[in-house]
Amino acid sequence: MRPVIIAANWKMNTTPGDAGALARTIAERTREPGVVRVICPPYVCLAAVRDALEQEDVAVGAQNVHHELAGAYTGEVSASMLAGLATWVILGHSERRRDAGESDALIGRKLGRALASGLRPILCVGEQLAEREAGRAARVVADQLAGCLAGHDPAALMAAGLVIAYEPVWAIGTGRNASGADAAAMTDDIRATLRAGGWGSLADGVPVLYGGSATAANIGEFLAQPGIDGALVGGASLKADEMAGIVARAAVTAAARAAAAG
Ligand code: PEP
Repeated sequence: MRPVIIAANWKMNTTPGDAGALARTIAERTREPGVVRVICPPYVCLAAVRDALEQEDVAVGAQNVHHELAGAYTGEVSASMLAGLATWVILGHSERRRDAGESDALIGRKLGRALASGLRPILCVGEQLAEREAGRAARVVADQLAGCLAGHDPAALMAAGLVIAYEPVWAIGTGRNASGADAAAMTDDIRATLRAGGWGSLADGVPVLYGGSATAANIGEFLAQPGIDGALVGGASLKADEMAGIVARAAVTAAARAAAAG
């Protein structure tokens, strides 16, 4: 049975002065059984969020990590610096692909660093609007997966708890979400890509999240799909009311899965 995961990506929002209070409020309002909760604040807020969540069953994640452990990389943050601050990491977010020019090969190196450092990776993939309109979405996502996962051992990635987030770029921060059916079709394609890429039946165990303008109002559309295991939430994750609604709906799916599994 795959877990149900709700991960918050706060992007470049909050400060060390207010992040802890927001994290605590969200944690208190989302104490639902069966849902894995993760909050990914900016680097400088990691310590405040970690401290605020000390008594809560909520994991802390970083939004990125450098592919090297140390060296002349001004402004970067390595996995060793994250030790004690974060246990998860978002990799390959489309905003980093866009703004920092991250390639699939580089993201693959970051994935290796996350594995070696014991950080649980959320690997983001997703197509641009023009690619979807040209009927190329599945091909683009398959190519991203192939590029990011090349050279990595599926069993090691499974052991590290790899999570894949399908985030259509045109849906991120736009208020225009994908349909549940389209997102579910892509999660099927993602697992088929993994299966064909040497993962075999391990592919069925990889959690795949949806991301892209997910809210309390639309999350049910995604969580009703058996192949979707939760959400990576951006804008709505800064609002405790939204997170409460999203995690409450996720708990319904988690309970249904637990009941079906006996
Ligand atoms: C994200 O940042 O991963 C994301 C999905 O953002 P939003 O929910 O704001 O679209």
